[in-house]
Amino acid sequence: MTANEPAVGRLERGVPLAPFTTFGLGGSAAFWADEVSADDLPAVASAIVGATGAPPLILGDGSNLLVADGAIARGVIRLGGRGLTFGPSWGSAADVIVDAGTPWDHFVAQTVEAGLQGVECLSGIPGRVGAAPIQNIGAYGQEVSDTVVAVEGLDLRSGDMVSLAASECAFGYRTSRFKLGDGTFVVTRVHFRLHTEAPPTVTYRDVAQALLAVREPTLPMVRDCVLAIRRQKSMVVDASDPNHRSAGSFFTNPVVSVGHADALAAEHGATFPRYASASGVKLSAAWLIEHAGITRGFVLGPARVSTRHTLALTAASPDCRSHDIVRLAALIRRAVRRRFDITLEPEPIFVGYDQPAATVLDEAEESLQNG
Ligand SMILES: Cc1cc2nc3c(=O)[nH]c(=O)nc-3n(C[C@H](O)[C@H](O)[C@H](O)COP(=O)(O)OP(=O)(O)OC[C@H]3O[C@@H](n4cnc5c(N)ncnc54)[C@H](O)[C@@H]3O)c2cc1C
Repeated sequence: MTANEPAVGRLERGVPLAPFTTFGLGGSAAFWADEVSADDLPAVASAIVGATGAPPLILGDGSNLLVADGAIARGVIRLGGRGLTFGPSWGSAADVIVDAGTPWDHFVAQTVEAGLQGVECLSGIPGRVGAAPIQNIGAYGQEVSDTVVAVEGLDLRSGDMVSLAASECAFGYRTSRFKLGDGTFVVTRVHFRLHTEAPPTVTYRDVAQALLAVREPTLPMVRDCVLAIRRQKSMVVDASDPNHRSAGSFFTNPVVSVGHADALAAEHGATFPRYASASGVKLSAAWLIEHAGITRGFVLGPARVSTRHTLALTAASPDCRSHDIVRLAALIRRAVRRRFDITLEPEPIFVGYDQPAATVLDEAEESLQNG
């Protein structure tokens, strides 16, 4: 018996991934292991590498994935650990260490209840804590990198458990070393530093407007306000919402040079939305899409732009396939490029495609042209 055999025995074969994604789309994985503990992770991961020749896909709640139709030649692992450890607080800081399998919003709710500031604006984001650093989740004026101190996990190349300081994670706007990397780092725990005495963050326009009449908003008020705004935009997972089969925003906000932004502002006037960012000027992808002629509710076959949020693409009918989402994304991307000379980048991770996401969309654009 080899060291891997017990782990291989735990792997299920041909498990459909669609039910484990918020799009509800995608084919079956070659191998599947659920509720894998941090202790079992090295053996299960190495069994998958042995069986497929590739690192496993670590799945959270599948809320930032577009899984290809057809068989996926990958092994998939979902982690089991769900636990929060509140560390000692000193001065105005308090540490919380959270297992990767913990639902993200459960963590946020617990911290708000404990009076800890730092993630209240990230209320209602679907998914698990282990995925939060992958694309440096952000919303309503906060990013998770504002409060992450360290990310712990298994380096599949060396087989070592390591702890990466936030400064080593290359966090940026919806990106990190993990998203840019080759998928060989499995996050097992995230270490946060929150604030015991700070007021909630009320910088985002919609939140500030909703709380205008409140002199000193509390953390629960900000959380409730963010959740209410998200519900209005179909940006929480709610199976009764007709827009619910999505991965949230499908495109990131593009960052362009100051010169490019100035030229667009000169053409489109004072209302052209632009925001200073570390690497240039951030534009609103939703505004660009709408001004390229694609509005909420736009339909292409069984795929549809959300009726409540221009950036969310949805599987609008039961016969929708990932292929249909790719076609709609390609059509939107082409419309924005033709109108503004800007190429939108997809935010979700494409799984099971032979090519990088940008190439998948390029090819889909070509087939739209030929079709
Ligand atoms: C309705 C809706 C609203 C959303 N709103 C927002 C928003 O406001 N802001 C925002 O930033 N995002 C948003 N998202 C996107 C998504 O919720 C986040 O990216 C979330 O962090 C994904 O978590 P998940 O557990 O579902 O990860 P998955 O979708 O399962 O995985 C995403 C990526 O992370 C990797 N991964 C997951 N867990 C681990 C781990 N433990 N170790 C290593 N890699 C791992 C996966 O391999 C994959 O590459 C939204 C999505 C939806 C459906």
